[in-house]
Amino acid sequence: VAEGILRRQAARESAARTYARALPIVPVRARGLTIEGADGRRYLDCLSGAGTLALGHNHPVVLEAIRAVLDSGAPLHILDLATPVKDAFTSEVFRTLPPALADRARIQFCGPAGTDAVEAALKLVRTATGRSGLLAFTGAYHGMTEGALAASGGARDVRVTRLPYPQDYRCPFGVGGRRGAELAARWTESLLDDTKSGIGHPAGMILEPVQGEGGVNPAPDAWLRRMRSLTADRSIPLIADEVQTGVGRTGAFWAVDHSGVVPDVMVLSKAIGGSLPLAVIVYRDDLDVWQPGAHAGTFRGNQLAMAAGTATLAYVRENRLAERAAVLGDRMLGELRTLAERFPCVGDVRGRGLMIGVELVDPEAPGDPGGDQGGDQGGARDSRGAGGRPEGVRLVPGQRPGTPVPVPPRAAPHLAAAVRDACLDRGLIVELGGRHSAVVRLLPPLTITDEQAAAVVDRLADAVAAVAR
Ligand code: PMP
Repeated sequence: VAEGILRRQAARESAARTYARALPIVPVRARGLTIEGADGRRYLDCLSGAGTLALGHNHPVVLEAIRAVLDSGAPLHILDLATPVKDAFTSEVFRTLPPALADRARIQFCGPAGTDAVEAALKLVRTATGRSGLLAFTGAYHGMTEGALAASGGARDVRVTRLPYPQDYRCPFGVGGRRGAELAARWTESLLDDTKSGIGHPAGMILEPVQGEGGVNPAPDAWLRRMRSLTADRSIPLIADEVQTGVGRTGAFWAVDHSGVVPDVMVLSKAIGGSLPLAVIVYRDDLDVWQPGAHAGTFRGNQLAMAAGTATLAYVRENRLAERAAVLGDRMLGELRTLAERFPCVGDVRGRGLMIGVELVDPEAPGDPGGDQGGDQGGARDSRGAGGRPEGVRLVPGQRPGTPVPVPPRAAPHLAAAVRDACLDRGLIVELGGRHSAVVRLLPPLTITDEQAAAVVDRLADAVAAVAR
């Protein structure tokens, strides 16, 4: 049965399929971390609907919330009308926001996908400021529609200026750590202050507090605070894309909470729908310049998604799952870092909370400063080689000529793909990310137990050992 389904869908669906090409499984049942295939095999699912499932598959509180709406006879589709279900969802979202934003927040329901909400955010700041330029970052991923794609570097848009996102392992300035982040911030500041550059007055800056598709790159809190003060001083709205980082994933309810940064606009999707499609923007009320009808869309009123989302947000908040993600994430990161000591092909292990990346490298290959972080095309799978700097060139301001700078080995997409396949053989589902798809990514549900987390680490370690052999 499974073989037939796989064959028919491969023949009928677009060649653009992403996950299905790498994961030849036919899920028929799922609960928590576990997916069961039509062949009866069980898998630990660390892809979690591309980071959507904060509570894992079919959590009882989510199912109950969905059933309650179905049993109540409420309309399932309400356009943008007011309902008790929407009221409860909005209240729960506002309850979790940074207080300085919650006190004066507006919410807009945007349609089913994260990319819909990104488009709304970009249009909002352009409308509100009357300006059109946009500041975005290397390695960013914001979605697949035109505006979001341009902000991710995957489509040409002269209005977008790309700035360096801070990275440790493959710091574009060759220093990493706090100094690398400081240099990235200074680069941004100098461009904004260059009156001839023409970018000093953009409509907004959009960033991910931790880049996901770009290869799991956590931004240092100090850098985020610098971006906040640089934009605030110049009246540039700051948009935080928390589509992937939100709802406890990184160890705080929203990833901006780690730094105390209060963005002007937050883009929310994935986990806020409790596994059903839902996307919103929340933003400061003085940006709410829309005229009636200025931004619309048919599918903004999915009551099942709002109810599932309310249940998810409340469960994460009441059970302090963000704190748990922080503790468990630290433990998993610590255990996975020993892999880097044991196997030269494990170049870097990084992450925040339960958003974890393991970068595979070719230890024999000469250094590649572009590596697998910060690609101009974010997580786009077909972006190999695009957007990088010339090989071997490292820019280290203040460095004396001739000083050697250690350059990490070249990213190894073939090894990452082999690890992903070896994981699947061992009943573990993982995804790849980064510019060259050389970063193995783990996005387990926040409800993962200690034993399950240990099993995930064991299986991944075993897969790496098999590939490294
Ligand atoms: N922003 C970020 C940070 C994301 O990770 C994603 C999806 N991976 C998106 C936007 C786009 O969301 P969607 O795929 O639902 O359009």
